[in-house]
Amino acid sequence: MTRTVYVNGEYLPEDEAKISIFDRGFLFADGVYEVTSVLGGKLIDFDGHAVRLERSLSELGMGHPITKEDLLEVHRELVRLNEIDEGMIYLQITRGAAADRDFAYPPEDTPQTIVLFTQSKPGLANSPMAQKGLKVISIEDQRWGRRDIKTVQLLYPSMGKMMAKAEGCDDAWMVEEGSVTEGTSNNAYIVKGDTIITRQLSNDILHGITRAAVLRFAREAQMKVEERAFTIDEAKDADEAFVTSASTFVMPVVEIDGAPVGTGKPGSVAARLREIYLEESIKKAV
Ligand code: PMP
Repeated sequence: MTRTVYVNGEYLPEDEAKISIFDRGFLFADGVYEVTSVLGGKLIDFDGHAVRLERSLSELGMGHPITKEDLLEVHRELVRLNEIDEGMIYLQITRGAAADRDFAYPPEDTPQTIVLFTQSKPGLANSPMAQKGLKVISIEDQRWGRRDIKTVQLLYPSMGKMMAKAEGCDDAWMVEEGSVTEGTSNNAYIVKGDTIITRQLSNDILHGITRAAVLRFAREAQMKVEERAFTIDEAKDADEAFVTSASTFVMPVVEIDGAPVGTGKPGSVAARLREIYLEESIKKAV
């Protein structure tokens, strides 16, 4: 089955979808994105992603080329056309294509580019990785200073994943001024005793939609949550570690820089949060 994608108002087979070589997303990484997961053919946390998208656009002085209602409709139509049961929908909006390559932004009436496509991932909710746990390395955080905006400048995170792979690991946790900011594509947590610790919100990290939901569920389940920075040494000494993202939900981390975290096996707090997150989010899926 050929994948059907969405480009600027049209549903097209993927090999017929085109954007300009002058698109600022391509030339300047001048664009924002969202990834929403699909479980049982329904969208998880759609509202949170739509709200963050609007914020990212506003922070970069970009227009809002599509309403939330229309965006929901496009997501649902792509799920239907591509018969997605479990997987993800990727959405990207750029500042569009100017007449030439120019650092200055093009006129405000330049049409923005909107692209959405699906990725089918059968077994996403029952990922074997959740039983196994991730091995991570620590690397210096060399990204720009507005990590709260979900831009498509993903070269450094991509390099981080390759550095992890080169060491036989799954991912990298980035460190700035001695403390962990986040994973290359997820928010990072440790558990010490009965307390879940994760970095506080600021421009240093992406405000994860999964993070917000997981912390809410943790508090509702009377778990203690501390939002503060932590170091790699603290993480190595923790009882558990895990990450959250829209595409992996809650995923245990069992090794950091070659040292086992806790027992070296996925921990019970991460397992419980994964279960609660999946159960509650599926109930509210649209
Ligand atoms: N931090 C970074 C750097 C990310 O790329 C992501 C996922 N895109 C996250 C955190 C997790 O955010 P969310 O839960 O909204 O997917």
